[in-house]
Amino acid sequence: MEAEFNTEEEIVFKHNQAELEEKIRNIIKDGIDTVQILADFDMTLTRDRVGGEKASSCFGALTHSGLLSDEYVEKNKKNYEKYRPIEKDPHLDLQEKEALMEEWWEKECDDIINEGPSHEDFMKMASSCKIYFRNGISELLEIRKDVPMLVVSAGIGEIIKASFEVLTNDIDTNLSSLKNFSIVSNLGVYEDSKIVAFNQPLVNVMNKSSHVKKFIDAQKELDEENHHHLRGNIIVMGDVIEDLRMIDEISYDNIIKVGFLNNLEVDSHLEEVYEKHFDIIIQHDGNLYPIISLLQLFAGEKMSHGDKLPDDFREFLESLYDD
Ligand SMILES: [Mg+2]
Repeated sequence: MEAEFNTEEEIVFKHNQAELEEKIRNIIKDGIDTVQILADFDMTLTRDRVGGEKASSCFGALTHSGLLSDEYVEKNKKNYEKYRPIEKDPHLDLQEKEALMEEWWEKECDDIINEGPSHEDFMKMASSCKIYFRNGISELLEIRKDVPMLVVSAGIGEIIKASFEVLTNDIDTNLSSLKNFSIVSNLGVYEDSKIVAFNQPLVNVMNKSSHVKKFIDAQKELDEENHHHLRGNIIVMGDVIEDLRMIDEISYDNIIKVGFLNNLEVDSHLEEVYEKHFDIIIQHDGNLYPIISLLQLFAGEKMSHGDKLPDDFREFLESLYDD
């Protein structure tokens, strides 16, 4: 994996200005201490493509590793071809979709368990795979400082953790030193250093809300003063509409929904739906500087990467500083 990949990126923003403006003004009033990030991992914090080539997801890190059998790779491919269009279909009955996603994840995880990779194997996969964080990730982790970030992913927790470890090593910091940074994902159970199960219930794209709720409740029990208490003003980030379900069972004051519509060659038909569901849409594997700039605005700090934003979005944010 590469920490950051510099390649030409075409950033296109769309935003629902009136509504977004109101939310931003509310959060400015409340202050940065009330802000929390909830983010999906695959194709949200990471890129969909690099140089025209498809980048890897957590599951892709496994199939491309050369560490698992050809039979596993073949099964994974067939499952992807069958279930991925279902995952992306915004019109399917939700109950039906939920059952099918559960079925997909169970198959995937069973197939991984049958291969029995070790913790070390996962580390090797993460460091050699084509998972590319979006540009701006290092600055986001740095500038975010005390803004809690919860990564909620239906991917493989081991791969996500290792990817962040590689990244934070590169930026000369340490994952465990990142305060208020947590991952909710599918983590393995090991026996004799081989994976024998995944923690149940599995996190899939449809049930993120119950996992977020469970995480928050567990944190509350651990420590009433714990920083992982969900804060009232949320920035939620995802590349599929269902990522927004992670906020379904929690209460909040204001929420800014950021959607990543990465591949318009394939997904142009989703544009309208995304505009309905998200406040900000970042297209074409755009960078994370819009999030960074929002945090700086909330903190009353000067925007440090305005040059990385499209003119209209930068001007929009700048106009909110003046009040
Ligand atoms: Mg995703």
